[in-house]
Parts: sequence; structure tokens; C-alpha cells
Amino acid sequence: METLYKSTRGTESKITASKAIVQGLSSDGGLFVPERIPTFDKPLSEWMELDYRQLAYEVMKLFFTDFSEKELRQCIDRAYDDKFDEKEIVSIREADGAFYLELFHGATIAFKDMALSLLPHLMTVGAAKNGIKNRIIILAATSGDTGKAALAGFAEVEGTGIVVFYPKDGVSPVQELQMVTQKGANTHVAGILGNFDDAQAGVKQIFADKELADRLDQSGFQLSSANSINIGRLIPQICYYVYTYLKLQKEGIIRQGEEINVVVPTGNFGNILAAYYAKQMGLPIARLICASNDNKVLYDFFETGCYDRNRDFILTNSPSMDILISSNLERLIYHICGEDAKQNAAFMESLRKNGKYEITSEMREHLADFTAGYATEKETMERIRTVYEKTGYVLDTHTAVASAVYEKYRASSGDERKTVIAATASPFKFGRSVMSAIDEGYKDLSDFELVDALADKAGIPVPAAVEELRSAPILHRNVCKKENMQEEILEFLRKL
Ligand SMILES: *Cc1c(COP(=O)(O)O)cnc(C)c1O
Repeated sequence: METLYKSTRGTESKITASKAIVQGLSSDGGLFVPERIPTFDKPLSEWMELDYRQLAYEVMKLFFTDFSEKELRQCIDRAYDDKFDEKEIVSIREADGAFYLELFHGATIAFKDMALSLLPHLMTVGAAKNGIKNRIIILAATSGDTGKAALAGFAEVEGTGIVVFYPKDGVSPVQELQMVTQKGANTHVAGILGNFDDAQAGVKQIFADKELADRLDQSGFQLSSANSINIGRLIPQICYYVYTYLKLQKEGIIRQGEEINVVVPTGNFGNILAAYYAKQMGLPIARLICASNDNKVLYDFFETGCYDRNRDFILTNSPSMDILISSNLERLIYHICGEDAKQNAAFMESLRKNGKYEITSEMREHLADFTAGYATEKETMERIRTVYEKTGYVLDTHTAVASAVYEKYRASSGDERKTVIAATASPFKFGRSVMSAIDEGYKDLSDFELVDALADKAGIPVPAAVEELRSAPILHRNVCKKENMQEEILEFLRKL
């Protein structure tokens, strides 16, 4: 059955998957969602023997129905190859009573690689399918990890260019180094004087600028998005939940059909939304546990039904979750308001104008599968230390937020179901914070001395993605004001 895509703000007609991917964001400002979430077309256990690529194909073919089998398999094979330092692409590690789903074995050692290794291929194949001749310029705002993963994915990909904005003082040293050393004549990186929400708001505004789109079109360019507002990022993330479930079943850890919990350290709400979609498809998930850091706007939303971004933005040790406007929540709001685009648009307008909205009690009833929690900085750091001392396993700061939230949930609920925690980054990406949690004595070490000390402690080798930063030249030194993002893009395009 064909799956078409519609906007959460609903003024456009339905379009194919490839069009939705190439376009990124709907021109009415809404996000593309599948007109219905497909269910699995086979009993799940028939897929137990498939490797990651084969399984990813079976899941994604239900969503990307206008790609031929050959096209989709080719995209998948190009994405999930030896860029990953794990043969199975993801791995599962049991520690202290939970199963950590390690999603950080790709080129930039964060889970964003899972989707961003694939997106450039979906986009170039999609553009060709739709007869698009313009060069596609990817525009991304990043809280640290999307930026590098998108740069790595799109660098030197023919027919594309990429511009990334990151908060100049809001990312970790390794994250910044990863971005500013990016090679490729089609790449551009700029730090903005502002936070992630500023960067994201600026990017959204540029996408909504029709006049600019016309001007770019005349010069042979069109903009698209690599942020998780692109449906081409969301769908690939469903696959690892299905894969993990089958893997646990295959290893006899769970019985066929046994329900598991999933805990996701959440920022823009993309990763956990993918788990929600997996559940809608028929994957036996009991609780979807949404974990926040001190920027607990989502926790408050699930507790009260009121989404309110009017609060201080807190810089934490889990910067990829320092977000007050979780873009993908819009998709969930749309689904739980009965796919009423008008009502959803009104909520989003209220968010834009007043910084908040409140959902109805009827809508809240549809959130029953979710549990929300948050962990303070102190709880997060303590959790890193505890897990390390008990098991020798080193969590990154984001994963530790999820782990701390899970511990609190488990203690208060008594829920002993098997639980998968999304491990979204390698500890090496946030070495300073991680080491300070484990051992105060490392304060005076340089960033790279810390990396070596961490490798020693964790008993694992330094990932290639970090190793190569030691000698990589800095190629991007641009800093811009948040008002000047458009100028920054145009200047880059003139040089392309
Ligand atoms: C992006 C990111 C998150 C948040 O994921 P969302 O899909 O935006 O909710 C969590 N942890 C890490 C390490 C990330 O890079």
C-alpha cells in the first residue's frame, strides 16, 4: 500500500515520500507525517535472522513506498557500511539491570549518524526521481551532534551543499572541533552568538521565506533540511528499535511478544517519536520513557498538559538536549488531536506568539503510553559514577540522563520489565564532563590528555572519529549574529 505524506498544518495536498524528503519542511510551516502509520506486514519473528541492513529495508519500505526496492536497498547499503566501527551497526550492552542500545558507532560517534548516514542518499535519489535540477543546499541548526553528522553525510555529495549553524558557546570542545575541521568544498560551518533555539528559529524563518526561495531558485539552488524535522531522518530511527527487540528475542532475553520499556534521552523529540511510531506499527513496547535534563520543558508538558518555553535556558553537560522548543513534538500533538491540522496550527501559533499552549484533557488521554522524567546535573553525574563503579561501563552524559531517569522510574513504579535505554553518544564526545564525574583528579588535563585517560579508565580504544581530531586543521572560523544567518548563507552560495 502506498504511504503518502501530509503536513501537520495541513494546507497542502498529500505528497510522496521522496518529495517530502527533498522538501524537508512543508511550505505552510508544518512537518510532514505519514497519512497513516503502517503496521508490520509480517509476523515480527520472521525477521529475526535479518542483519541490520536487511531489517532496515523491511521497515523503511513500508514508509518510503515510492522508492524502488533497488533504490532503497542501494541507499541503505551505502549508508550502513564500514563507516560504522561495529559490524552489526548498533550494539547492545547490558549494565546494571538495563540494556544500553549503543547508537554511536557511526562516523561522528553520536546517534545522529543512524539517520544522517542515510539521508543524503535518500535525498539525491529523491531529487533525481522528481526531476529536480537545482543544487540542494542543506540548512541545519545544531545543538552539537546533528551538525557534524550532517556535514559528514553530505560532504562531497554531488548536487548538494550544506550550511551548519551551532551555538558558539553551547557545544563541547570535541563537538566544536569535529565541525570546524570538516573538509569538503560544499560545506560551511558558522558559530552563532546565541543558543540552539536561536539557531533553530533562524533556520525555520529562512525556510519559510518564499521570496528567498524564489531568488535561490533563479540561481539554481533550493534549500532542504537535515534536522529531525525531515521525515527522512525520523523513519530510519524506527529501525533500530525493531532490530533491538528482535535481537533480545533471539538471544532469549525476552519471549516473543513480551513488552519492553524504552528510555530515550530527549531533546528535539525525534528519537522517542521514532520509538512511538515503532509501537504504533506493532512493536511490543510498554512504556515510552522520555528523559530530560534540567531543561525539563517536556517533563512539565507530560505532567501538566501545558507546553511552556517561557523559562531560563540552562547550559548543561548534556548539550544536545539543551532545547526548549522540541520540534518533533508537533508531530505527536498533531496525532493526538485527531490529526486536526487547524487545531495543531493554532497550538503552534500560540507557541510562537506566547511561548506556550495547553492541550485538552482528551488529548492528554492519548499520552498514556508516555512516562516523563528528568535528571538534574548532580543526578546525572552521580549516575555516571555509579554505573562505572558497579560495572566498569562508562556512560556519556546524555545516556546518563536517561539512565538516571530510568532508575528513579524503576524505584517508584516497581516496573521490572526489560528495559532498553538509548545510548546516544560515545563518552569520548563529552570526555571532560564524563571524566569529572568519575574522577575529580583529571581537571587540569588538556582535552586530548583527557581522551587518553578516559580510554584507560573505560578500557576501550579511542574512536577513530576522535583520534583524527588531534591533527586536523581548522577550516571554518565563521561566527555570525543570529540576525545575519541569511547573509551568511548567501555569501557561501556565491562562492560555490
Ligand atoms: C540529538 C541528541 C539527543 C536528543 O535526541 P532528539 O531526537 O533530538 O530528542 C540526545 N542525545 C544525543 C547525544 C544527541 O546527539
